[in-house]
Amino acid sequence: MIRVLLYEALAFVVYFMCLSFFEWWFHKFMFHSPKLNKRTFRQHTLIHHQEFKHKPEEYEWRAPREKKNIAMDWWALPLFVATLSPAFLLMQFVTKLPTFWGGLAAIVVYYGIYEFLHYLMHVPGKFGVEKTPFFQFVKEHHRVHHKYMLRNLNVFFPLADLVMGTYRTATTPARLDLQAQAKREKTQAAAAILAQAAAEELQQSKNETPVTPTAAPARSAKAG
Ligand SMILES: [Zn+2]
Ligand SMILES: [Zn+2]
Repeated sequence: MIRVLLYEALAFVVYFMCLSFFEWWFHKFMFHSPKLNKRTFRQHTLIHHQEFKHKPEEYEWRAPREKKNIAMDWWALPLFVATLSPAFLLMQFVTKLPTFWGGLAAIVVYYGIYEFLHYLMHVPGKFGVEKTPFFQFVKEHHRVHHKYMLRNLNVFFPLADLVMGTYRTATTPARLDLQAQAKREKTQAAAAILAQAAAEELQQSKNETPVTPTAAPARSAKAG
């Protein structure tokens, strides 16, 4: 019995860490991109981020109607459980270790903390946790996300932000952050554009080069 509890507890910790990456992916591709799901994109990027901006006076609620645009739909948790449970079952089956309930508990706890803290960030209450340095830190972390939407994609557990290079603070120089972003996300696109520009330039210079007795042999040598 103790052995089972230990494995489930260990699974809880490991899956909790994995959920930081799941949240990162979900936030980036379901909340801030319309490609996979237009509804979640609209609710988060077009409504939540428009109603709550990064300036202190705009980061917290101002009109009661804004409060309903903070939490996810009520069926989000059942959907996450239904989506991730097969993976937990598969892991338990493959490893033959009792880890399923630890994974399930990790989703419920992670989701509960996410929704509770995210709500408190935008709608301050009278909870003791709001006075803790941890809450002040994550509230500021999320405020920076409301300014730079593709930064700080984790709400309360920025493990994936640190690993994936999307962690930033209000004092990170924008120039450095943008350079890093361009390097990470646009290297391939930039390389393709440069290659295309170089090819076009070469083609253009070929077309413009007058055929002279010295240039002609060079071209034929290249072609050969
Ligand atoms: Zn928010
Ligand atoms: Zn967001």
